[in-house]
Amino acid sequence: MGCGTSKVLPEPPKDVQLDLVKKVEPYTGHKTDVYKHFIKDDGSGGLKTGCPSPPYHIQPYPGPHLASHTEPHEPRKTRVAKYRAKFDPRVTAKYDIKALIGRGSFSRVVRVEHKATKQPYAIKMIETKYREGREVCESELCVLRRVRHTNIIQLIEVFETQERVYMVMELATGGELFDRIIAKGSFTERDATRVLQMVLDGVKYLHTLGITHRDLKPENLLYYHPGTDSKIMITDFGLASARKKGDDCLMKTTCGTPEYIAPEILVRKPYTNSVDMWALGVISYILLSGTMPFEDDNRSRLYRQILKGKYSYSGEPWPSVSNLAKDFIDRLLTVDPGARMTALQALKHPWVVSMAASSSMKNLHRSISQNLLKRASSRCQSTKSAQSTRSSRSTKSNKSRRVRERELRELNLRYQQQYNG
Ligand code: ADP
Ligand code: MG
Repeated sequence: MGCGTSKVLPEPPKDVQLDLVKKVEPYTGHKTDVYKHFIKDDGSGGLKTGCPSPPYHIQPYPGPHLASHTEPHEPRKTRVAKYRAKFDPRVTAKYDIKALIGRGSFSRVVRVEHKATKQPYAIKMIETKYREGREVCESELCVLRRVRHTNIIQLIEVFETQERVYMVMELATGGELFDRIIAKGSFTERDATRVLQMVLDGVKYLHTLGITHRDLKPENLLYYHPGTDSKIMITDFGLASARKKGDDCLMKTTCGTPEYIAPEILVRKPYTNSVDMWALGVISYILLSGTMPFEDDNRSRLYRQILKGKYSYSGEPWPSVSNLAKDFIDRLLTVDPGARMTALQALKHPWVVSMAASSSMKNLHRSISQNLLKRASSRCQSTKSAQSTRSSRSTKSNKSRRVRERELRELNLRYQQQYNG
């Protein structure tokens, strides 16, 4: 949500000084690439057996997010040329690079067009020079290669060089969940149940395969096309964990996005796929109000709120939201992971099954979009000031990073002791 993005990544590698909480940094590409491997492309311009059919009905469109990711004074052509230069010639032989449509912690996502079929796709380019990027990329590929579901973005093919991986994926042209809600003009509980049903279907499928997404949040839920009947798709499997044969289903790595992290991850207890259900509780809360259940600029206070499971239904539009919807959220934002709803249980919750029949007509849009916009603008301002502070104090940044990292570790330890009584 908003323009600030931060993730708590899996344990930082020992050979690189990294923040536990990764911020979005401007891209600094490398001028040379030694191409080492090249997988899956048969050079025929067609798709390999086992690959899904391209999404034939969708039309290329620049996407609402393009404007927000562009540098203001650079002509579009120059920008596209700049990104094109970062692509393996074997990728550009097959795909036309059209526009930058998104950026994440380690990646740039561009809209491309298949030269032969004219079909639009997305290519996610991940820097794999550092171990951190490599690990994220490996997790993402490991999962994407296994999944095929209507609410999960489909991997088409992969190109690999020594320093980058290019994942060709289905293109979602409908924008991120909350951009759509703001633009929509109306939003009811019934709309919320529709969205959640699709996401829950995808999550149930992942959990059945032994996959935990671990980074479910609105930015990673994309609409497939701009039409009102568009399905929603889960993306970004960079932090996902796939259970291997013979493994128990417990995970230990501390990762996620702070506001969406489940309490059991914060106390570094072994955890299960129910952390995704906690994140869905956070998403449901935001979906119905445009506000976050747990929010504080001070991370230790934020974690304390999460650990207590302390949130409230005060302020607009909560008085207009049904008790059934609140019950749905409460059963997801349950501190005890064992008592939290599973994806299957959530799909069977009366609020979802009835598609919010008791309250479907109330339009929550005004308060939700006002709250979302308020939050987005305050986030953008704090990110901008943080960025300018960062650039003017670059020499101090390593030290403060180390200090922050240590503080986080100490904090985690304290919480762990508190939580375990
Ligand atoms: P990261 O792991 O770095 O967060 P994401 O996979 O979330 O990267 O991609 C970053 C952004 O790029 C997303 O928030 C979204 O706006 C855009 N994006 C990613 N994949 C697609 C896609 N398949 N179609 C359209 N936009 C995409
Ligand atoms: Mg993302």
